[in-house]
Amino acid sequence: MAINWTEAQIEEVIQAVIKSLGGGASAVKNSWDGSQYNSRKYIGVYADMNDAIDAATAGYKAVRAMSLEEREKVISAIRDLCRSEAPTMAELGVAETKMGRVAHKTAKHILVADKTPGTADIVAQVKTGDYGLTLTEMAPFGVVGSITPSTNPSETVICNSIGMIAAGNGVVFNPHPNAIATSNYAVDLVNRASAAAGGPSVLVASVIKPTLDSAQIMYKHPNIRLLVCTGGPGVVKSVLSSGKKAIGAGAGNPPVIVDDTADVKKAAKDIIDGCSFDNNLPCIAEKEVFAFKNIADELISEMQNHGAYKITAEQAEKLANIVLVDVKNPKTGIVKKTISRDCVGRDAAVLLEKIGVSVGNDVRCIICETGFEHPFVQHELMMPILPIVRVNDIDEAIDLAVKAEHGNRHTAHMHSKNIDHLTRFARAVETTIFVKNAPSYAGIGFGGEGHTTFTIAGPTGEGLTSARSFTRFRRCVLSDAFRII
Ligand code: NAD
Repeated sequence: MAINWTEAQIEEVIQAVIKSLGGGASAVKNSWDGSQYNSRKYIGVYADMNDAIDAATAGYKAVRAMSLEEREKVISAIRDLCRSEAPTMAELGVAETKMGRVAHKTAKHILVADKTPGTADIVAQVKTGDYGLTLTEMAPFGVVGSITPSTNPSETVICNSIGMIAAGNGVVFNPHPNAIATSNYAVDLVNRASAAAGGPSVLVASVIKPTLDSAQIMYKHPNIRLLVCTGGPGVVKSVLSSGKKAIGAGAGNPPVIVDDTADVKKAAKDIIDGCSFDNNLPCIAEKEVFAFKNIADELISEMQNHGAYKITAEQAEKLANIVLVDVKNPKTGIVKKTISRDCVGRDAAVLLEKIGVSVGNDVRCIICETGFEHPFVQHELMMPILPIVRVNDIDEAIDLAVKAEHGNRHTAHMHSKNIDHLTRFARAVETTIFVKNAPSYAGIGFGGEGHTTFTIAGPTGEGLTSARSFTRFRRCVLSDAFRII
């Protein structure tokens, strides 16, 4: 838990992984679907959600019967397997979803293994006084139903599993339909680790073909006591309307402000590092920049030195018409600009190819100057496309950045040495995560202090979830005793 990644260490991991994959030109040569990987049948993955819930219920009973030491042994085995199989899950994730970068996904799994809190996160509170002692303990809910995204599929399954098991719960997953093989690989990994460490052979469960219907079964099943949802606005709304206790980790659109006191060179590097990480899939990644006009030229030029490719306003319009498509709501008939799933998480070079620009793989991110109303600013693209808006002063920067965040209260970033500016923006934007003078991923413990999570619960207020987020408080009162002073 004490690992804090330096830039050099991150680079070292990335380079080691690229090397191990034969220079990065990797392809998953194995066969896979929601039920198996390379002819090995996944453990804990069922055709029917009801069977998956039964298995997770048995897993919960087994966890309840384990000592904390035994639970921690299983968690330690999950961490070890997550580290050793990180490159496989990363490759599988990219091959299945066609999104993101293998080296970055590998680094994300290692982060989960190293910095997701285990049982140490569960702490009891004690109050003593004239009437004796009152103990408040963090107890499990029971079986948790977890909905996971396509953007960090196996990372979220493993991170959720560690935290939920550490808290004493069982877990059943309804993973994203576009990332079933990768998510279920992670379910299988947790079960293999459990068996190897002396835990139950099926500790967590999932389904071969998750659907909206299987999610509904999960919502309504009496054994499911807590729902945890990591995803976009639609699914978060659906769990919050379920009538059950729910934790919602929803969408963001993180703005970045760069003022004229910032170390502009460093700001440019940090922003490109964060924005291009896993092709901008993380919900915390920089999505739009508000730059003071007196440093904007230097910022853009420094970004270009760090792998950003600048496109013209005309090219930006062309690209906008490709990455955002008109989708008609079947119920209301209203047509809305929606991100094209064919473009989410793709390499910058692939996106540039779509507008007839051929560049090498060294290009990490596309940048362009836009106005505030531009769709690149307004939409959570989750692609390595970064619009830059020039602003006159801090008032305008904060006003526009808060508007661009759309009240998600998810994540925001700022590069500045002016404490008043930093404080004013942090107060105004009210986000769960606020990163100052670092790449966005510092906010989830990657080169920054603090634990990691891939479930950042802004809407329901748990913040960066960990084992304690998946517990319920129980009080035990001992009257007239145990106060020893
Ligand atoms: P998504 O919203 O498309 O899907 C998430 C999951 O919900 C999938 O399993 C999907 O099948 C399911 N789903 C969708 N509608 C549903 C409904 N009505 N009922 C039941 N299940 C439903 O998510 P995605 O595209 O994979 O992930 C990207 C989104 O998730 C972005 O908006 C991103 O910001 C957000 N996200 C947030 C966090 C966080 O920690 N706050 C982390 C990762 C991703």
